[in-house]
Amino acid sequence: MLEFQHNTKLHDETRQGEALLLEKTPQKSNGRKLYIESYGCQMNFSDSEIVASILMDQGFETTNDYNDADVVFINTCSIRENAEQRVRNRLKEFETAKNNKPGMIVGVLGCMAERLKAKFLEEEKLVDVVVGPDAYRDLPNLIEQVDDGNRAVNVLLSREETYADISPVRLNSNGITAFISIMRGCDNMCSFCVVPFTRGRERSRDPESIIREAKQLFDAGYREVTLLGQNVDSYKYTVPSTGKDADAPNSEPKIVNFANLLAMVAEVNPLLRIRFSTSHPNDITDEVLHTMARYDNICKYIHLPVQSGNSRVLKLMNRTYDREWYIDRINAIRRIIPDCGISTDVITGFCSETEEEHRDTLSMMEYVQYDYAYMFAYSERPGTLAAKRYADDVPEEVKKRRLSEVIALQREHSEKRLQEQIGKTHVVLIEGFSKRSDQDFAGRNDQNAMVVFPVDPRFKAGDYVRVIGERCTSATLIGRIID
Ligand code: SAM
Ligand code: SF4
Repeated sequence: MLEFQHNTKLHDETRQGEALLLEKTPQKSNGRKLYIESYGCQMNFSDSEIVASILMDQGFETTNDYNDADVVFINTCSIRENAEQRVRNRLKEFETAKNNKPGMIVGVLGCMAERLKAKFLEEEKLVDVVVGPDAYRDLPNLIEQVDDGNRAVNVLLSREETYADISPVRLNSNGITAFISIMRGCDNMCSFCVVPFTRGRERSRDPESIIREAKQLFDAGYREVTLLGQNVDSYKYTVPSTGKDADAPNSEPKIVNFANLLAMVAEVNPLLRIRFSTSHPNDITDEVLHTMARYDNICKYIHLPVQSGNSRVLKLMNRTYDREWYIDRINAIRRIIPDCGISTDVITGFCSETEEEHRDTLSMMEYVQYDYAYMFAYSERPGTLAAKRYADDVPEEVKKRRLSEVIALQREHSEKRLQEQIGKTHVVLIEGFSKRSDQDFAGRNDQNAMVVFPVDPRFKAGDYVRVIGERCTSATLIGRIID
């Protein structure tokens, strides 16, 4: 399938199917090994860390070779049909390993597990256990059921589960950047999207536990956290009144919104960079933008999925904003944070989209000049509002042709935006060596552009350096340290 994604980390194509390894081994080993690989968005990778943490407490070690594992988990994505197909193909590859090692447990976790539920066990004979995203605490019990010779399913969705108390373990970490889930689920019901069905109702995590996690990460040497949620702008946590405040015994419960949370995390330490994803055009407020402008350590970068540039299509998509509203939000970003990087998601060929409406998406891209984009041809998902209400009537080749037009335009804009960075000075957090050479460091600037520059022995991963941009490739800025 034709798809194009810059590697901006939210959905990192290079990490799809990556086996995740724990930094630590458990204190008390049970002699069993877990192999876990993840697909889809960053939320899934973050969930795999919760799964590993729960199983590490049970004494499991991790391995990056599924042939060597006692438990093989695949954390799945349902967002487009090709994501599901990828998982089905992968399961076939596990078959020989399981035949060679009869006690091996194969489990399917995440969105596809939630979507297909027990049907998965009927369809894939190899699978022993099916676990939805809100049921990971039940894993030790489910594994026990399989050990006893049964097949097990738990796909209960919860209105409360945020895994707030599960102490974070980091998998395949660079030791510098980490993700923190601040909420789960989604209440938006965009008509094309399966997420509300696979991840359940939206719920926000206790801010105290978020701050605690950010502090622990900082103390362990991490220098950047990305706050994750399907719609971070609707983060809302009501801190219960304790009644203990002598000055205000009957005080109202305190509400923490996303702008408040951003400020709280930013105050953990000025050397801790904050990023977040995903913002929703309907809900992003000027208060959030002013908070970003106020704190130097909140990165000037917003991922604001537009999906379509046409108001009629946006209405069919149930996105709850129109073209004018989206443009107003872009104008607000440019006014309040003039140097902000902006990226987006685009879907081409949604039900009944005309040529003219497609050109509205191109003209929106021209207006905004996005730094990056994740671009997809519409893929009908069973059970969604669009699947029930609208015909998937744009022919596949038209969807793909429109997608290639969107991709070509975005390439131009990405290059142009990078070229504008040449000659400017960027504060870059060194994440490690570049992929190509250990003679070069790699890191990101505030706007989330990847910057590569020659190693300077005075600096190491986790340090901030000032880098002047000298030239660029299509996706990377190349420069040198000027400190
Ligand atoms: N919550 C985020 C939002 O509102 O933008 C992201 C949700 S989803 C994990 C990431 C992106 O996948 C969406 O923004 C959308 O562009 C794309 N997507 C979702 N459902 C799709 C579908 N049925 N076909 C094609 N692309 C889809
Ligand atoms: Fe899906 Fe819309 Fe929720 Fe994003 S906001 S997860 S696109 S329903």
